[in-house]
Amino acid sequence: MAKVYYKDAVKENVLAGKKIAIIGYGSQGHAHAQNLRDNGFDVEIGLRLGKSWDQAQADGFTVKSVSEATKTADVIMILLPDERQPEVYEGEVEPYLEAGNALVFAHGFNVHFKQITPPQDVDVFLVAPKGPGHLVRRTFTEGAAVPALFAVHQDATGTAREKALSYADGIGSTRAGVLETTFQEETETDLFGEQAVLCGGATALVKAGFETLVEAGYQPELAYFECLHELKLIVDLMYEGGLENMRYSVSDTAQWGDFVSGPRIVTDETKQAMKKVLAEIQDGTFAQGWIAEHKAGRPVYNAINETENNHQIEKVGRELRAMMPFVKPRVKVEV
Ligand code: NDP
Ligand code: MG
Ligand code: MG
Repeated sequence: MAKVYYKDAVKENVLAGKKIAIIGYGSQGHAHAQNLRDNGFDVEIGLRLGKSWDQAQADGFTVKSVSEATKTADVIMILLPDERQPEVYEGEVEPYLEAGNALVFAHGFNVHFKQITPPQDVDVFLVAPKGPGHLVRRTFTEGAAVPALFAVHQDATGTAREKALSYADGIGSTRAGVLETTFQEETETDLFGEQAVLCGGATALVKAGFETLVEAGYQPELAYFECLHELKLIVDLMYEGGLENMRYSVSDTAQWGDFVSGPRIVTDETKQAMKKVLAEIQDGTFAQGWIAEHKAGRPVYNAINETENNHQIEKVGRELRAMMPFVKPRVKVEV
């Protein structure tokens, strides 16, 4: 079994007295900054003027430009959107890095795909929580945590690994468990997970189920509850106790249906498609395509986003959720 690190693995606090700059104050940024501050670390925020700047200030942080925050910090955590990182890094971070600094990421994408090549004299590592930023913060305040991965890309000071574990401890993740990985493994598995299962696989499955019921003449509202709303309850059971726990909770009829029909939906052909998706992640095809799409102003991304937001399941869902005030999006949904 892989070695999982907990609080006792954080031997000495190598980050004590160090200044940590959190660059970006979005989903991950606000959570890292607030958890580290609550754990006694010296945190400042690096941003451009705007919404996040105002929010970070309202939350009581000292906020500086990205270059000023980089200049004064020993540890620089880059929590900007992945596709924007190379440009900001080149203009506002790299010129201000000093020997012995630690340059940190929450995803290996830009280093692994060589969009960012840090200088030799800084430590480079990643600490990647395996969960959305809002949960990184919420679970922390509840005394729990989101697990995390860490990986060292470059160890200039001989202490990069200790720093990475200490950072993971600072955001609370040693309460849940921290796994060591490489930039390559973290990047490829993260991209695969979100494409094949968590985001791409799940949304395609939900939509296909909804469409099948609606096309067969069933009420869209009922199809929404059945194929989207109820999924959360099922996933909660899997989260708490694996597939076995979910199957224990549902009826035997549902479990039999799971056994005989599930493999007819996700077939060998689906698995072959997953292998192809993985191969295109591994050989860089996916990364190249996404970088080019972003540079071109995201024409395909925006068009698909528009179509998806207008899908019947979204319209029905908006109406139904408006009647369930206890169901609220955690982040603003732009419609
Ligand atoms: P968000 O999109 O939520 O936040 C981005 C932040 O960067 C905002 O505060 C934004 O501020 C700021 N920003 C954008 N452009 C600039 C710029 N040019 N100069 C200065 N600040 C800028 O990002 P995420 O938290 O989702 O992602 C951050 C990193 O964490 C990524 O590497 C991602 O892969 C990784 N990650 C994310 C997870 C998640 O839960 N979302 C999970 C695990 C890892 P403004 O308000 O001004 O736009
Ligand atoms: Mg990801
Ligand atoms: Mg049922």
